[in-house]
Amino acid sequence: MMSLLPRAFDVRPGEKFDVVIIGMGPAAYSAALYSARFMLKTLMIGETPGGQLTEAGEVDDYLGLIGIQAADMIKLFNKHIEKYNVPAIMDTVEYFRKENNEFIVKTKRRGEFKADAIIVAVGVKRRKLNVPGEAEFTGKGVSYCSVCDAPLFKNRPVVVVGGGDSALEGAEILSRYATKVYLVHRRDEFKAQPIYVESVKQKPNVEFILNSVVKEIKGDKIVRKVIVQNLKTNEIRELDVNGVFVEIGFDPPTDFARQNGLEVDSHGYIKVDEWMRTNIEGVYAAGDCTGMWLGFRQIITSAAQGAVAAHSAFNYLTEKKRKK
Ligand code: NAP
Repeated sequence: MMSLLPRAFDVRPGEKFDVVIIGMGPAAYSAALYSARFMLKTLMIGETPGGQLTEAGEVDDYLGLIGIQAADMIKLFNKHIEKYNVPAIMDTVEYFRKENNEFIVKTKRRGEFKADAIIVAVGVKRRKLNVPGEAEFTGKGVSYCSVCDAPLFKNRPVVVVGGGDSALEGAEILSRYATKVYLVHRRDEFKAQPIYVESVKQKPNVEFILNSVVKEIKGDKIVRKVIVQNLKTNEIRELDVNGVFVEIGFDPPTDFARQNGLEVDSHGYIKVDEWMRTNIEGVYAAGDCTGMWLGFRQIITSAAQGAVAAHSAFNYLTEKKRKK
């Protein structure tokens, strides 16, 4: 049986591990798999099994897994780490600190765990538009996940905001449900991969509104209107829609990095070298939370970083034991 939830096995509070992995997205699972295969005693702690993958639909860009559903991919990840008996607990890591040459990892609900090395794979947070009406109508038409919520907007008109892969992928999915999709983007060039842009351009019910931004979201019990302004002409347009999909990217985990003394780059992402080493000895980072390959964030690139981080942790721990 394959499950969407990983197994906790028998983890005791205060237990010591070789490696504790913080996070539960593809980078974390990959780090867990490689760490276990290096025969390191490994624990994964995260909030959501799959991380951002829970917001994806069909995945067709992971080598070998042709057109797999994201949920099935998460089940396979669980099955794979279970094969190596890696325990995974769903909890929030509040912070970690170094004490007597080992790391103490403090969780919100399960107390503390000890580790000789840490792999941080905490992902990123969704960006907000910060316009009037956005907070008020969140869950009443404003959504941050086209893939998850598209079916709720069957036969209704919607707006998608953004010009990256998420927005274009979102517009493509929404075009299958909504009567009309307005794609509002602040420029007339796209960050998204051309394959997504071309695909959306072919959809008869998608209208591109370029060089434009959302100024306000209005409604009563649900969203009714979105006010859009053209940045070149200043022209204001009122769109009669019931959904607003905000797909404008992600912000780095600045607070987590600051709290734990992790250096960040000029964009706020955790600084790593080519071996995924952070500024703290024994602490590695992988996946979207890092500045590595910024601008090209894929499941497969996160998984690659997780594997490299585990390899570096293995080398570090081997060297540490040798010096004892
Ligand atoms: P992204 O690549 O950072 O793109 C964000 C888009 O939103 C950009 O077009 C940006 O405009 C726009 N934007 C940012 N802030 C805005 C604001 N305040 N108001 C209006 N527009 C704003 O983010 P993403 O599309 O969420 O993708 C994130 C990462 O995940 C990327 O690496 C992407 O490749 C990856 N991803 C991959 C897939 C896939 O391959 N299947 C699917 C989804 C996401 P500008 O263009 O003007 O900067």
